[in-house]
Amino acid sequence: MGYYELVVKNGRMLDAESGFDAIADIAVSNGKIERIASDIDTALTDDSVDASGQWIMPGMIDSHVHVANSTDLGHTRGLGLQMVAAAGATTVIDLGGSMDVLVAGISARGSGVSVGSLGYLKPGETVPEGRLSPDMILEIIGTALQAGSLGIKLWGGYYPFTPDETSRFISTANKLGAYVAYHVGTTETGSRLDGLRELPVLLGSTGRVHVAHINAYCRGSILPVNEEIREALQILSDLHDQVVSEVHLARPNFTLGKCDGRGNVLADVVANCLRLQNYEPTADGIRAALRDGYASTVEVIRTGLVLVSGERGVELFDAGNTDVPMSFPVNNATSAFQLTAAKNAEGAFIVDAIGSDAGALPRNVNIEQAMRMVKFGALEPLDMVLKLSLNPAKMLGLTSKGRLAEGMDADLTLVDPDIGRASQSFVAGELIMLGGRVVGSGGTILTTDRGAKSVKATGIPYERIDLSEAQMYRGA
Ligand SMILES: [Zn+2]
Repeated sequence: MGYYELVVKNGRMLDAESGFDAIADIAVSNGKIERIASDIDTALTDDSVDASGQWIMPGMIDSHVHVANSTDLGHTRGLGLQMVAAAGATTVIDLGGSMDVLVAGISARGSGVSVGSLGYLKPGETVPEGRLSPDMILEIIGTALQAGSLGIKLWGGYYPFTPDETSRFISTANKLGAYVAYHVGTTETGSRLDGLRELPVLLGSTGRVHVAHINAYCRGSILPVNEEIREALQILSDLHDQVVSEVHLARPNFTLGKCDGRGNVLADVVANCLRLQNYEPTADGIRAALRDGYASTVEVIRTGLVLVSGERGVELFDAGNTDVPMSFPVNNATSAFQLTAAKNAEGAFIVDAIGSDAGALPRNVNIEQAMRMVKFGALEPLDMVLKLSLNPAKMLGLTSKGRLAEGMDADLTLVDPDIGRASQSFVAGELIMLGGRVVGSGGTILTTDRGAKSVKATGIPYERIDLSEAQMYRGA
């Protein structure tokens, strides 16, 4: 008979890998799941949790967050780490940040979640301006790996490179065994369906990549939305062996409200959002939209960033001289819904995961939106767990996460099916979140062999992961 650190009793256990879906108990020792059984004696532990009425999934892995941006929204380091934990995540992948900012964030406001990070490419900031030679590309990716990053995020939708450079970034990352994520768009295409259409050429027959937020390219800017969805799904199906992908389920977008001296809005996105609801593309148009509750800006409160509209929104907009984050509820629900639910002829999901594209943005809605899809009948509970935990674990090659099975990491997310949100979460058997309040601290950095030395020097706990196990390299 063992003695357990923790026993979680009577939850509905959902394991997507085995298909296990039943009420059971789970016993934890040394941060691992030691036993799963129908009735584990609580005399064998002095720490037990009654999970009656709750669903238990392997810890939620958010495959697309922003918690380590050098220009962190709100300029408050690490707030995103609190926000992802509050929403039920136990592991997150930062899609484009800096290791220094991540380390500062974990030190200041770590929430106990494990974090892997990708370096990003911004000409003039993280990479030189102008054309990049093959040698420079090799060096940029090598440097990111040495610093502890898992690889590189290409932000083609914001900082496009030529198709040649983009293609070479991806193939070089592949050669180095680095993780590589791509927000589509090159100097020839945009953050739209045409950027996705370019993928087969960029990848050739061997390129491997994680394509971010597929729904962002299906907003109806080239074809009617439904045709864009159909074509995007076809492109992903054709590239099935080369591409992993995710969709986010958030309604709000994020952009910048900055206006010029005459009060005209600078960002195209903002102007379009305003025109959509018949507001002028001006500072006054933004003020009116804020007052009406259509536009929001963000405010830092103790627990993170929140959306704010009304008079307080106008106050913040004016206090920031218009140069403040803006959000509008414009993301296309049809494309998010259909891309999440779509399956191929073999009955497998075409888009692998649900990733929030949130973190420090106040839209960490993976679980609450996926639960809405479950209630609607568009996802089975095990499908939700597949998309929120097992598939992201496979994408990253996290062989000890994403599963509820003996020997796996005791990362658990409990979901209250009545309120449709995460109610508790544990990392390695330690409680990090209870009822939406974060109680965890610190964190673990996920890195590769090549980054271990740099990460070790930070003093923050780390774990090596083997990216040859990542789905893009190992295969589905
Ligand atoms: Zn993103």
